[in-house]
Amino acid sequence: MITLALSKGRIFEETLPLLKAAGIEVLEDPETSRKLILPTNQPGVRVVLVRATDVPTYVEYGGADLGVTGKDTLLEHGGQGLYQPLDLRIAKCRMSVAVRADFDYASAVRQGSRLAVATKYTTIAREFFATKGVHVDLIKLYGSMELAPLTGLADAIVDLVSTGNTLKANQLVEVERIMDISSRLVVNQASLKLKQAPIRAIIDAFAGALSES
Ligand code: AMP
Repeated sequence: MITLALSKGRIFEETLPLLKAAGIEVLEDPETSRKLILPTNQPGVRVVLVRATDVPTYVEYGGADLGVTGKDTLLEHGGQGLYQPLDLRIAKCRMSVAVRADFDYASAVRQGSRLAVATKYTTIAREFFATKGVHVDLIKLYGSMELAPLTGLADAIVDLVSTGNTLKANQLVEVERIMDISSRLVVNQASLKLKQAPIRAIIDAFAGALSES
């Protein structure tokens, strides 16, 4: 049995065409089904639905053979022991620094001010500001990061930005682009050895579909 870990929403939706290229069709819709293990048209392949941040953990410990996860999640998790054969170029967005429109970020940085930065992505933020030589106090949040500068909890946030609409709706502006983000295929190293043929077939089908797009 091959187990593929996906998270609901954008990653699930955007992985479906790649699965189709591998001849795999998921037989239930996660938006209407309450099942966490979804069968596919191939008796030897199943999909498990996990939280996006749990995908690397499932694959690392062999709860799933493969998974699809954002570069952001992988960098925060560390990606230890995971084989990362493909950038799937799906769920694209960017990791950025944003501040209140009336906060002069450039001059705060120039003056060497200490910045309070709220984020879910503390590893990425720590490394980014360290490289820039900016002193920061990181405040770990689990959601609604946009609220932090509006309430005075933080000077800046580090978050994912796609259209920019969420920032705009909260009077925040993007002041730095840290990195582009997309989702990766990750594979358990032991599975790759023990179930080499079916896993290679999936990797090759995904790679073929990507080269055509
Ligand atoms: P947007 O308003 O389109 O810029 O989207 C920003 C909101 O969606 C933020 O709350 C982000 O955390 C979230 N978001 C955007 N793109 C992604 C993605 N690829 N994966 C997960 N969350 C995302």
